[in-house]
Amino acid sequence: MIRIEQPEHGPRTALVLDSPHSGCVYPADFRFKLDAMTLRRSEDAYVDDLFGAAPAVGGVLLHAEFPRCYIDPNRALDDIDTGMIDGEWPAPVTASGKTARGAGLIWRQVKRYGEIYDRKLTVDEVTRRIEQCWKPYHLALSSLLDAAYERHGRVLHLNCHSMASMGDHTTEDGPVPRPDFILGDLDGRSCAPAYVDAVRDFLQAAGYRVVLNDPYKGQELIRRYSDPAADRHSLQIEINRALYMDEATLARTEGYRRLRETLTSLCARLASLA
Ligand SMILES: [Zn+2]
Repeated sequence: MIRIEQPEHGPRTALVLDSPHSGCVYPADFRFKLDAMTLRRSEDAYVDDLFGAAPAVGGVLLHAEFPRCYIDPNRALDDIDTGMIDGEWPAPVTASGKTARGAGLIWRQVKRYGEIYDRKLTVDEVTRRIEQCWKPYHLALSSLLDAAYERHGRVLHLNCHSMASMGDHTTEDGPVPRPDFILGDLDGRSCAPAYVDAVRDFLQAAGYRVVLNDPYKGQELIRRYSDPAADRHSLQIEINRALYMDEATLARTEGYRRLRETLTSLCARLASLA
């Protein structure tokens, strides 16, 4: 349920990318009630392909094949909505604001479109999602980051996402249009400013509007693996979907090719920095 793309003879740089939300292989045991197209609008569609040039510049790209609404690798394991579980959840629970919005480890709803299930989930099926999806994803990412760190004495981790072009009443920012890119470094805690500035400057020079940490500062995947003091840097990048796709149909638009070229050049720039 995960894929790793890397150069034929292994990675040559300290650049590790991951795309946790672009998966579109819906497992047979998902058993959702929402219509499939509505569910698919929660995907960070094509983000793995948009950053697909990472191996060509010597980096490595990990991406999830399972959908983020099945289980979300960018949430902590204890970020569980126990109201969705049939019976007693057998592990500690620390529900975050994401769970309150229906988008914790196991999503309850797709934003304004409604509830994903018409049933409760069994402890066994949630445990299976954790064992078959969440844990393998984190194991792969931590291994890739550690391997890069061992080779180079540092690692630059780009955590890759896309976002709806507008917020709505269920999102942190409310119903407002979003910039082209939002970079998240946990308000300066997950990545050295030099890397953040390099990405921002590169995108701004390409003509895009870039905002830092507002409203997306980054979540579990950069929180868990970053340690800038030890030269382990993680930066989240959110791309506005209107730049490359029709958000209703998920069809790629004319802007796709130009955006992919920009991100290919960004990968090359980061590979040389890292
Ligand atoms: Zn995402």
